[in-house]
Amino acid sequence: MAKKDYYEVLGVDKNATEQDIKLAFRRLAKKYHPDVSKEANSEEKFKEIQEAYAVLSDPEKRKQYDQFGHAAFENGGFSSQGGFGNFGGFGGFSNMDFDFDLGDIFGDLFGGRRTSNTRRTKGNDRLIVMDISFMEAARGCQKDLELSTTEVCSNCDGKGGFNERVCSECNGSGTITEQQRTMFGSFLTRTTCPKCEGTGKTYERVCSVCRGKGVKNVVKTVTIKVPEGVASGNRIRLSGYGEPSLNKGVNGDLYIEFKVKDHDYYTRNGNDIYIEVPLTITEAILGCKKDIKLPNSVVTLTIPSGAQTLDKHRIRGKGIKDVDSNRYGDAYIVLKVITPRHLNREQKSLIDKLDKTSLVEKELVDYENFLKS
Ligand SMILES: [Zn+2]
Ligand SMILES: [Zn+2]
Repeated sequence: MAKKDYYEVLGVDKNATEQDIKLAFRRLAKKYHPDVSKEANSEEKFKEIQEAYAVLSDPEKRKQYDQFGHAAFENGGFSSQGGFGNFGGFGGFSNMDFDFDLGDIFGDLFGGRRTSNTRRTKGNDRLIVMDISFMEAARGCQKDLELSTTEVCSNCDGKGGFNERVCSECNGSGTITEQQRTMFGSFLTRTTCPKCEGTGKTYERVCSVCRGKGVKNVVKTVTIKVPEGVASGNRIRLSGYGEPSLNKGVNGDLYIEFKVKDHDYYTRNGNDIYIEVPLTITEAILGCKKDIKLPNSVVTLTIPSGAQTLDKHRIRGKGIKDVDSNRYGDAYIVLKVITPRHLNREQKSLIDKLDKTSLVEKELVDYENFLKS
């Protein structure tokens, strides 16, 4: 099914201001919220409205939408910006639940609960998936991330304007009272004043730096400390680096989820690490000392004579650090005997000589007997 144009969904035109969009959203959210709406398909409608608002209320996303349409938000649409992975889960809008309080929109529609007129809601959380190498995860590292975020406008100290006045719309109460008609009759509801957004205050002169929002967009370089031992799916939280609040509250949080790439030699099972080590046939036959490179050390392993492919040696405590405790997993060395494929004449004659002597190993004798049985 083709998606509807977001502007059409909210019933605003392409040049609508942020305030227009916010008001349209509040009006429609009230009409179609599934808890109160008697309209058919209200749930679907409400989702449509939420989705449209999530995009159009965010200047960055709105710009992308204006440029690319819905394609901007299909999987992979938010491609990596600073060398890190896609914005996980942003393909659909399932993660973009609105955590601003609907009570704020509905006022005391439900049971007379009056929302505080200075209520501030936290912005939405964001999730970034960060690709890291196996060794970066095994040893821990620091990564610089460029993040677009918001900070309090220094020009107006976050107020959004100068020369404070009492809001003329609500007379400073932060709420307005409206008559609401329902099937149970009509009654009065109190909702947040759209003009002052519940603060009860307006400003004679709107701050030109932040255009009244009280916050400004900034790009910050943040150094992420990747803890030693992280695994794919582990997350860390950076508080305050999520989406800005819709009403001058604190920013949401940013979650960084790690995705650890595979390694050519190491594989990981929990906090244990496995490494396959190749042996020459003579090393396998005669035994040897072998240097084993592990993420945090090089260990010399004594391999006894008669080593076989898939023989396993455990080195305790040389695996990967558990992120929660300080314990390390174990390292498992898995041997692989490499049978020579390229012998020169001299080597071949030595092997021929060896073959003339009869090598009797239990497995070989057992198989001969099995053949004859
Ligand atoms: Zn007001
Ligand atoms: Zn400002």
